[in-house]
Amino acid sequence: MCEQAQAETLKEELFKNSKNGYFRAQSDDIDGAYDFCEGYAAFLNANKTERLFAKGAVALAQQHGFVAFEKGKVYQPGDKIYVLHRNKAVLLCVLGSDPVVNGVQIAAAHIDSPRLDLKPNPVYESGELAYFKTHYYGGIKKYQWTAMPLALYGVVVKADGSQVEVRLGDQPGDPRFVITDLLPHLGVEQSKRTLGEGIKGEELNILIGSRPFNDSKASETVKLQILQLLNEKYGITEADFTSAELELVPAYDVCDIGFDRSMIGGYGHDDRVCAYPALMAALHTEHPKKTILTVLTDKEEIGSEGNTGLQSAYMKNFIYDLAAMQGAAGYTALSHSMCLSADVNAAFDPTFPDVFEKNNAAVLNGGVVITKYTGSRGKSGTSDASAEYMGFIRKMLLDHHVVWQTGELGKVDAGGGGTVAMYIANLDVDTIDLGVPVLSMHAPFEVVAKLDVYMAYRAFCAFFDI
Ligand code: MN
Ligand code: MN
Repeated sequence: MCEQAQAETLKEELFKNSKNGYFRAQSDDIDGAYDFCEGYAAFLNANKTERLFAKGAVALAQQHGFVAFEKGKVYQPGDKIYVLHRNKAVLLCVLGSDPVVNGVQIAAAHIDSPRLDLKPNPVYESGELAYFKTHYYGGIKKYQWTAMPLALYGVVVKADGSQVEVRLGDQPGDPRFVITDLLPHLGVEQSKRTLGEGIKGEELNILIGSRPFNDSKASETVKLQILQLLNEKYGITEADFTSAELELVPAYDVCDIGFDRSMIGGYGHDDRVCAYPALMAALHTEHPKKTILTVLTDKEEIGSEGNTGLQSAYMKNFIYDLAAMQGAAGYTALSHSMCLSADVNAAFDPTFPDVFEKNNAAVLNGGVVITKYTGSRGKSGTSDASAEYMGFIRKMLLDHHVVWQTGELGKVDAGGGGTVAMYIANLDVDTIDLGVPVLSMHAPFEVVAKLDVYMAYRAFCAFFDI
């Protein structure tokens, strides 16, 4: 063998294989990816908020034989149970043939996404136009949310305690809402602002009407007209907004991106692009050895706080209940459990290469991303998975021919971010981040690659097949 060929052979053996995922995937993976993403796109279009996603997930689970968990009831291996937690989070569990105390395989993704929430006193009139005041939820670039159609979703609890659901702007013919921006002709001063201040928090005002009520002498007649319409349609008054959770999200559907249709653009990939594959993997798991649990959680985007976020005890309590059902200690079950914290990572963006360190950045079509640690400033705010657990997951992915890559969120000290991983690791569970790389993360229109979405699903299936 000539020296050059010898070097090539040795490189093949010793260098890491970081070829594009299309060259590492098996023959039926590409068609599988395109097919899988049809279902994903449809589910995303129908479920643009955490409440809708939770409800949609439960409906699908019921179709797949899952029944509502009853505390105190004894379940058998193979039984499928779910918990709808406060309408905003879901637990989907299939009992394993091994006892629960041997550990639970947990896949945890979040179903809340950055958005605009209405303030408790949102309605006002200015310049004979009616508006909603908003308070943004999660990390957004505020300027990205102007001049595009928005839909309104949520619930209002009325003074008598009854509840009304609001869903307006996602059906053909529905009216939509918008935040107006300044025309460039008069934007001389605005364009001197920093990008972060281009649109300020108190400028995220939603235009909701312009037609005055039929009495020109009264003041605030446009607002009055809107409140009358809301009263007719939903039976609510201005005071009812105080006990409401109403969210504005982009009104448009997801769509294929690129001539090759290899990507999907749309709102809320973070983190429904992991939640949907984790949901599907749970629905498709029959008679597992270990008990499997998909957790679809809320509030990750604001720090996993609150009783629907993973800093609360709801997931832990459920595992304690399962262990108690078999006469075992919950903490022992947790200490033997494994978790894939299923969240997105940033994909390398060739237009903005400076913030990435190329050897350690995830790329689109590189497969599902494993992130050993997140956090910022010297690994602060992360659980940092062990070499042993990383090695276990690596072997699992190799054994199942899942296309995967590693990814670190940007250059050291370029910024950072966190996931639910550390809150689950804090329960003494082996935890690592595994998810889908995203371009334009947290924008109202994010981009993912179909192959990566499918590889996330394949990874969760492998994890549930331990
Ligand atoms: Mn996320
Ligand atoms: Mn996020």
